[in-house]
Amino acid sequence: MSSAFDFEPQPRRASVAVDVGGVIVGGGAPVVVQSMTNTDTADIDATVAQVAALHKAGSELVRITVDRDESAAAVPKIRERLLRLGMDVPLVGDFHYIGHKLLADHPACAEALAKYRINPGNVGFKDKKDKQFAEIIEMAMRYDKPVRIGVNWGSLDQELLTRLMDENQAKGSPLTAQQVTRETIVQSALLSAELAEELGLPRNRIILSAKVSGVQDLIAVYAMLAARSDHALHLGLTEAGMGTKGIVASSASLGILMQQGIGDTIRISLTPEPGGDRTREVQVAQELLQVMGFRQFIPVVAACPGCGRTTSTVFQELAQKIQEDIRASMPVWREKYPGVEALKVAVMGCIVNGPGESKHADIGISLPGTGETPAAPVFIDGQKAMTLRGPKIAEEFQLLVADYIEK
Ligand code: SF4
Repeated sequence: MSSAFDFEPQPRRASVAVDVGGVIVGGGAPVVVQSMTNTDTADIDATVAQVAALHKAGSELVRITVDRDESAAAVPKIRERLLRLGMDVPLVGDFHYIGHKLLADHPACAEALAKYRINPGNVGFKDKKDKQFAEIIEMAMRYDKPVRIGVNWGSLDQELLTRLMDENQAKGSPLTAQQVTRETIVQSALLSAELAEELGLPRNRIILSAKVSGVQDLIAVYAMLAARSDHALHLGLTEAGMGTKGIVASSASLGILMQQGIGDTIRISLTPEPGGDRTREVQVAQELLQVMGFRQFIPVVAACPGCGRTTSTVFQELAQKIQEDIRASMPVWREKYPGVEALKVAVMGCIVNGPGESKHADIGISLPGTGETPAAPVFIDGQKAMTLRGPKIAEEFQLLVADYIEK
């Protein structure tokens, strides 16, 4: 018989802690939020601006593409500029195909990065594969940097896939093609980690990821990885997509995995709308961790969905405004008022659930619904503190929230 406790999150899977430029990933540390730029890294101004925006939004690690000499040469300058801005955010270099060469030719880049991400599916081809992989691992050891071995099924090791397909066929095909692909992804990550360790890279310098674009595949692949290794795991659904689809798919898969105790750092990969805000993916990652109760980043604004009892838009506007104000003030508040992120504000549309929900919040307001007396009771610390009236209810409540936080 199941009990209520069966639905609690599972204890975090034990993993080896990895220090990424001062940010601890794994070993029971809080799940780290990270993101990635989409600027040309060789464009120093644009990359500094985007890393700064992502970090300010809450990205604790930021990955940048290092795809050619110009971008490798730009990395130490980007790091320097960020430090001058007071942003000691660890930068992760994303390498494909020629990472070994770029790291060898640009020692300042190798030093400036806090972690190297390598893709075992494209680190080299045939006879050169192991040699080039070994060169990157050697650089990681020389500069004392961790690596993320990041398998992606869009660039899966084709030799390994073919070998496992052949072996499966020889056994009478007990596994489906999808299962063999999942197994290849997992083995690619585990075999690469084994090789890195044989080459001398300690376990506490290795993070694994295995990204796919299907929700069920992602859950299966990470569950397999989690069961077969104790490496810290970076979670992310690749090619999650645009808008609500990307958010829902990432939240569903990462949420289920984290509920099972799996995952030490997360990245929500969203395809930005043209001209869209890149920091949205950081916001979604933080909100996912917060709504699941794993971390707290920002005061919660509880707002009812509204219904036929609220014909005016005052309460939606107020809820949105309060949320925006809080988000904008957080960088300052976080420094000034430790613990402010645990606060709960309620903005409710009418008397049905308004007073009840407001009482459960630190500060809450129940706006007048259609046909109700035009008065809005405000509750502070569970007690009715006052009633706001007149056309400036929204502005007055905003001031009360700011005042409450300052006190
Ligand atoms: Fe509708 Fe009132 Fe419930 Fe909001 S609190 S959803 S306005 S009944």
